[in-house]
Amino acid sequence: MAIKLFIPGPTIVSEDILQEMSLPMIGHRSAKASEIQKRISDNMQKVLFTDNRILLSTSSGSGLMEGAIRSCTAKRAAVFSVGAFGDKWYKMAIANGIPAEKFSSEMGEPTTPEMVDAALSTGKYDLITVTHNETSSGIQNPVEEIAEVMKKYPDVVWCVDAVSSAAGSKIETDKLGIDVLITSTQKALALPPGLAICAMSRKAYERTAEVPNRGLYFDLRTLWDFIDKKNYQYTSTPCLSLMYALDKQLQKIVNEEGIEARFARHEQCAEFTRAWADEYFRVYPNRKYLSKTLTVIDAHPKGCDELISIPALNKALAERNMQLGNGYGGLKDKTFRIAHMGELTLDDMKEITSAVVDVLKLG
Ligand SMILES: *Cc1c(COP(=O)(O)O)cnc(C)c1O
Repeated sequence: MAIKLFIPGPTIVSEDILQEMSLPMIGHRSAKASEIQKRISDNMQKVLFTDNRILLSTSSGSGLMEGAIRSCTAKRAAVFSVGAFGDKWYKMAIANGIPAEKFSSEMGEPTTPEMVDAALSTGKYDLITVTHNETSSGIQNPVEEIAEVMKKYPDVVWCVDAVSSAAGSKIETDKLGIDVLITSTQKALALPPGLAICAMSRKAYERTAEVPNRGLYFDLRTLWDFIDKKNYQYTSTPCLSLMYALDKQLQKIVNEEGIEARFARHEQCAEFTRAWADEYFRVYPNRKYLSKTLTVIDAHPKGCDELISIPALNKALAERNMQLGNGYGGLKDKTFRIAHMGELTLDDMKEITSAVVDVLKLG
């Protein structure tokens, strides 16, 4: 029996979607490939509430994060970090020779609109990156408030890492004015890893013309132009198997479950998991900004000075065919993470949380 994953990616993939991955290959320059990719693009636009161009990349989400900061920074990037994945975006900028500054929040705290305003008012930056959902600390940043600030800076390109939230948490890309919104397949989309997806605005596209060295494989301008010229096809051979799966999964999300129902299910699982965490532990991040797709929990049980052993907990859970996430980066062994993203339901959350109570004899 497959192990039931409560880690924040990869998440459980349903059986019918896994079967899509075993279908025969087609030519990636065929009309059929264009048709699949056009349908993916149309449905992805619905899930992300956008008319922006959808670009796919055969890589994990990090590929397009690196591509976005490299392709769209002409002057200097301001990277807002609330944890490990924000830090990674800054490292990508530096590794590519992109002038960049990092603006970090304390762990468990959000990027505030005031921080963004203070940085942009200097006039030094033409691009910012914000993490929508920080998978290390369990923060969901206040992008609606940040969007208000961004209205004052219409020339700045706004990139958002929504890798662990898109398709699980509602993000109204166009209403917020996000220029490059990035996600990948193995988190709330509940697919195997291997494809990155972004929604890119014309403003971001136009910026790329001012950037001389954009690389090639992850150059967003090359991808955009190729789709225009070749009817939704890609510059190199894409992972067709994952495209079949993504195509089918998006049709299920849009036409069967319904986008709003999917968000409501994530919200319901989040509320249940937080309430449970409050009863036996403590939710780690600032409560005003809690993620809807995972809960990060302080590993001290209530009224106890000693940390639980997360490896031992996972070992016991493995006997019950379940796995949860240890903390990430500096929060490893100090926090643990229960994901409620993808296909997980309220019943699943009841199952994992009662197993934890049972294993740790918290009851
Ligand atoms: C998982 C994750 C990433 C990295 O995505 P990959 O698809 O593994 O490259 C980036 N940002 C966040 C917030 C994530 O959760």
